[in-house]
Amino acid sequence: MPCPFCAIAERQVEASFVYEDENVLAFMDIHPVNAGHILVIPRHHFASLSELPEAIGAHLFIVAQRLAEAIRRSGVHCEAILLTLADGAAAGQKYRIATCT
Ligand SMILES: [Zn+2]
Repeated sequence: MPCPFCAIAERQVEASFVYEDENVLAFMDIHPVNAGHILVIPRHHFASLSELPEAIGAHLFIVAQRLAEAIRRSGVHCEAILLTLADGAAAGQKYRIATCT
């Protein structure tokens, strides 16, 4: 089964992008937990956290932090920000920020 995040990164699947640069993409979740639910992912595929270069991991967090601030400043009702990182299939294997609890 192809990786859905790679398909999004390669523009084979539509997504509503809110941020992108050479190493990181961020887009709205198609099954949002709440308003402002954004997925922040590395542009290139890494099967696990241990494969992710530290610099890209640090950059992912910086982007997530900036997007969280953008959500707080937007018109979306937002009492809190929740950042989650899942490493491994049993954990959900996706980077996401679920916001506005
Ligand atoms: Zn992938």
